Amino acid sequence: MLCTTLPSHADILIVGGGPVGALIAQRLAQGGQRVLLAEARRDVPDDPRALALSFASREALAANGLWDAAALAPTAIGRVHISQQGTLGRTGLAADELGLPELGYTVRYAALARHAQRVLQAGPAAISLGTPVLRIRQLPRYAAVTLGTPHGEHTLTCRLVILAEGGKLLGELRDIRQRSKSYEQSAVLAEVTPATPHEGCAYERFADDGPLALLPDGRNFMLVWTQAPAGAADRLALAEADFLAQINARLGRRAPQLVGLGARASWPLALKTVDSVVGQRVALVGNAAQTLHPVAGQGLNLGLRDAVTLAEVIATSPADQLGETAQLARYQRLRSQDANLVTHFTDGLITLFESPNPALKHARSLGLLALDAAAPLRRGFARRMVYGAR
Ligand SMILES: Cc1cc2nc3c(=O)[nH]c(=O)nc-3n(C[C@H](O)[C@H](O)[C@H](O)COP(=O)(O)OP(=O)(O)OC[C@H]3O[C@@H](n4cnc5c(N)ncnc54)[C@H](O)[C@@H]3O)c2cc1C
Repeated sequence: MLCTTLPSHADILIVGGGPVGALIAQRLAQGGQRVLLAEARRDVPDDPRALALSFASREALAANGLWDAAALAPTAIGRVHISQQGTLGRTGLAADELGLPELGYTVRYAALARHAQRVLQAGPAAISLGTPVLRIRQLPRYAAVTLGTPHGEHTLTCRLVILAEGGKLLGELRDIRQRSKSYEQSAVLAEVTPATPHEGCAYERFADDGPLALLPDGRNFMLVWTQAPAGAADRLALAEADFLAQINARLGRRAPQLVGLGARASWPLALKTVDSVVGQRVALVGNAAQTLHPVAGQGLNLGLRDAVTLAEVIATSPADQLGETAQLARYQRLRSQDANLVTHFTDGLITLFESPNPALKHARSLGLLALDAAAPLRRGFARRMVYGAR
């Protein structure tokens, strides 16, 4: 519900109403917790991202009313085809190998965030839009948080602050350090039309000059093409036919040829991690806890699992434990394996596939073929991509 007057105290303050903040706000409030969510923006801006969400992420969102096919217009992903340019190496993952109806779905970030905002406004959590958090003071028994409002600053106390704001406020915290590794890469995003129907197949192609992914998105694909920043700028400026010719040359015969081009955009890429996802009276979820390269399409999937775990830890702790060190340590412990595995896997993919060394290229090709030949290994890998490490 929209909050008209800001309180002087909230048990739990969630900062950021993106998909991860929205999920944890809904889960906690539907479980009877007193929650206030502060979101800096009033409206969700247009955003070119199309996100591949796993079947498990859809289930998590649906459990709290945040999945609505009419609002999200999801495109089902039944298969993923993975290959490397210039080699025979390839493998595939399919939903039926896991006994699932789909591996996942492509949804637009803006549709998801707008739907989440509508659901929150009708739900039990108090939400305040257009109120950025400006400062956080961590104290042993509570945190004092200052928000910007149209009428000036407002400070409230809370027993637990959940940062779901993408990590912009980490500099405010005295006991959490963020590490950032620039990949010196940008993602070129473009809507592209295939010559033949995609039939729900997504493609991951490790081209010689950077990985590219095609996510089924309606009748089209959303292209996510990793490039050095100068290369990305050049590609954005290319004429339509030249742009398509460059992509088609990299795809070869591993994916449908592309014949149409819609809007294009680019996005700088970095890996951001923290030395701890909890601090005094603070827990981090989603991109605040880790911001990943989009190569494996895992950032939001991982962030939603942060939200589910933290909500579960809070729901199963005695009320007087809210925001206490022992409760936060439990959340940290429960998330570390999944977060480390996905973060290192994603970062490792970039490092492994960026080397032009022919011996390494051959080894990568053999690795893909080995994965293709070993059904149990492939199923284990696919299960981790859908459910995370459990
Ligand atoms: C090109 C690209 C492609 C991607 N593809 C995929 C994919 O296929 N699959 C996948 O799982 N992930 C993907 N990701 C990652 C995914 O977009 C993020 O992991 C996800 O958006 C993180 O959600 P979040 O809610 O944590 O943060 P955000 O979506 O960043 O939301 C943060 C919210 O906090 C608000 N906020 C910020 N500062 C403040 C403040 N001071 N006070 C109050 N509010 C504040 C913002 O306005 C925003 O609404 C991709 C990312 C990129 C860049």
